[in-house]
Amino acid sequence: MSSNKSLLILPGDGIGPEVMDQVVRVADWFGRERAVKFDLDDGMVGGAALDAEGTAMPDAVMAKARASDAVMFGAVGGPKWDANPFHLKPEQGLLRLRKELDLFANLRPALCFEALAEASSLKADLVSGLDIVIVRELTGGGSFSETVADGNRKGVDTQLYTTPEIHRIARVAFDLARKRRNLVHSSEKSNVMHTGVLWREEVTAIHEAEFSDVELRHILADNCAMQLVRAPKQFDVIVTDNLFGDMLSDVAAMLTGSLGMLPSASLGAEDPATGKRHALYEPVHGSAPDIAGQGVANPLASILSFAMALRYSFDLGEEADMVEAAVAGVLADGLRTGDLAQANTQRVNTAEMGDAVLRGMEKAAG
Ligand code: NAD
Repeated sequence: MSSNKSLLILPGDGIGPEVMDQVVRVADWFGRERAVKFDLDDGMVGGAALDAEGTAMPDAVMAKARASDAVMFGAVGGPKWDANPFHLKPEQGLLRLRKELDLFANLRPALCFEALAEASSLKADLVSGLDIVIVRELTGGGSFSETVADGNRKGVDTQLYTTPEIHRIARVAFDLARKRRNLVHSSEKSNVMHTGVLWREEVTAIHEAEFSDVELRHILADNCAMQLVRAPKQFDVIVTDNLFGDMLSDVAAMLTGSLGMLPSASLGAEDPATGKRHALYEPVHGSAPDIAGQGVANPLASILSFAMALRYSFDLGEEADMVEAAVAGVLADGLRTGDLAQANTQRVNTAEMGDAVLRGMEKAAG
């Protein structure tokens, strides 16, 4: 079956290429076994692109990203480029993608696989069965800092949100909740911040106008952080701004055990003509220079990011379920890469973990 499912693979640096190899194997499996074909292309980003072309995001790669249905991104950075000036940092590649594709909605699921409940820093019963998503506004908000020379140095950060920015991220969160357990917590600091007051009012307005079937609760960001470590299963979808989202998603990340397990998606606005939106999927972890080149990195965060691409960019929910079930099965069978290794588990390398996921999918396909 031919298809128009275009997927751009940007492996990047460090362990990026190692984990992305496993994603390509999973994508190929669908083409071979399920007649779900992806048009795969690839390109250089980050340090690799800096070395080859002098820029962390070559124009030709950017053009491919614009034209593709989804981008799978590995990781960028490493000690080799740490001393580079800001405009020649590998991270500029990712920043350009986010900016030019206007990826304003960052989805960070925190899903605790049963077999890993013991690996969480919280008690297993608090996280067992945990399945939440943090929807972080990614392009607006704060962090515009400047220093003013008047004898003293001053650092100034401006937090700014507009109603359209709040409306579009709220819609993403409510839409997502409708496909899940129908509950949205909107988190801000309306007790001390004007942007917080605006956020609360505008999320409420969108809720009343378009999503009154979804339950909405407001929660102050400090309380939200506390509740995430006290009783995380009370949440379904949490929508929040750029700054609080940065912190809350890292808190939620630790509930699930390892950095090597965490996928993410960043989505752009829906094109009214085609119904499509730009999307980038990436593991939350970085390029892990300490283990790069050894073939031991955990590929599951990247494989789970691909499952998110199946669900959100290609409307292939059943196939996404298959990948997630295969990952859960592999963990239940006791296979672990080094980052997850515990007593009574079998240590595997990156490719062996990929093999095991493919075996799990074959089993599921019958
Ligand atoms: P990191 O996520 O790369 O590594 C942190 C620790 O977790 C390391 O010990 C690493 O070995 C381990 N780890 C991470 N992913 C793993 C995996 N899949 N399997 C097994 N172990 C894993 O974070 P860092 O050390 O702070 O940063 C290293 C480099 O990555 C830096 O150059 C940083 O700028 C970059 N970085 C890039 C991204 C990105 O591309 N989105 C994100 C974060 C950091």
